[in-house]
Amino acid sequence: MNLKPMFLMLLSLIVMISWTTYAYTIQASVQTRDLHLPLSSDYSKERKDQATHAMIHFISNAGNNPQDPYNINSIYNIFLDYGFSTHYMIGRSGEVYQLVDEDRVAFHAGEGELSRFSGYKNNLNEHSIGIELLAIGTENEMQSMLSNQAYNLITPSNIGFTDAQYRSLNSLLDVVLNRHPAIKRNRNHIIGHEEYAPRRKTDPGKLFSWARVDFTQKHNARRGESLWAIAQKYGVSVNSLVTLNHIDPNKYLQIGQKLTIPAMYQVLPGDSLWRIASKYGVSLKTLINLNNLNPNAYLQVGQNLIIPSTTISYNVKSGDTLWEISQKYQVSIDTIIKVNNLDSSAYLQIGQKLFIPH
Ligand SMILES: [Zn+2]
Repeated sequence: MNLKPMFLMLLSLIVMISWTTYAYTIQASVQTRDLHLPLSSDYSKERKDQATHAMIHFISNAGNNPQDPYNINSIYNIFLDYGFSTHYMIGRSGEVYQLVDEDRVAFHAGEGELSRFSGYKNNLNEHSIGIELLAIGTENEMQSMLSNQAYNLITPSNIGFTDAQYRSLNSLLDVVLNRHPAIKRNRNHIIGHEEYAPRRKTDPGKLFSWARVDFTQKHNARRGESLWAIAQKYGVSVNSLVTLNHIDPNKYLQIGQKLTIPAMYQVLPGDSLWRIASKYGVSLKTLINLNNLNPNAYLQVGQNLIIPSTTISYNVKSGDTLWEISQKYQVSIDTIIKVNNLDSSAYLQIGQKLFIPH
């Protein structure tokens, strides 16, 4: 018996299996840096309830040192001194720190309430994962933490959020939502601190772009699955799948082919088009057009809306102005400035990448 082909077969099988495992691990993990807070009841406690929410915050040391607001040790000391905590923190270069493990409750939300989750009054910590981004809000939003003079000492590039932070936030949310399926990928479950405690908190604030949080879902096509079946499963149109994925509707899907499912939102009592558009950071006009709505008609509770959360990435060419780009994509200059955290007085650079929500 010739052992060589058998050996080669076995070898390729091992390579295949380890590659699959490896690929899966890359997809389902985020590299975190260990910055754990002491394992004491001052900073966390055992989780008894399932997590249904992820809460976004900002934090900095600007109140003590406006010229060096992102020193990690100083920020760690803020947590130690004030006895609050978070599961994750995302640095300016997108580095992700872990301060509390997900199977414990972190103390990040404090007192507050959510109109749609009446049982969560003052106890959202028990039901959530906290994510702090190292960032500084507008002068107004920072008023309770630092004076106007101190705010003026902050380097402009330290205000707002960075591209790397949005990228890491999206990877982190993929992993967290994978582990906690009760955290639905929509704006009722992924929320800002200010939405829970509007009288006390301003984070993540006006400079945070919800349009850059990825609310789309991924689907791996299975054997024999048709576009129509996938569209039915997610409550989206075949057309929206064809457009978003640039596929030929007349061709069969490949097994394992990855499809992006448009972000969807199911209308709840009390929702308005304006409210939904502003929560997702998209324009009212795009929301109306994309869903073929009559702007004067009422929304129906339970109605599914497609959320235009795919942002175009645009490379600035010679001679481009913000005004021209805003005309081309039918979005306001203010939106482009906000989404890209631009200094409105600075010039665009050739080759600069802009995100355009549409
Ligand atoms: Zn907060």
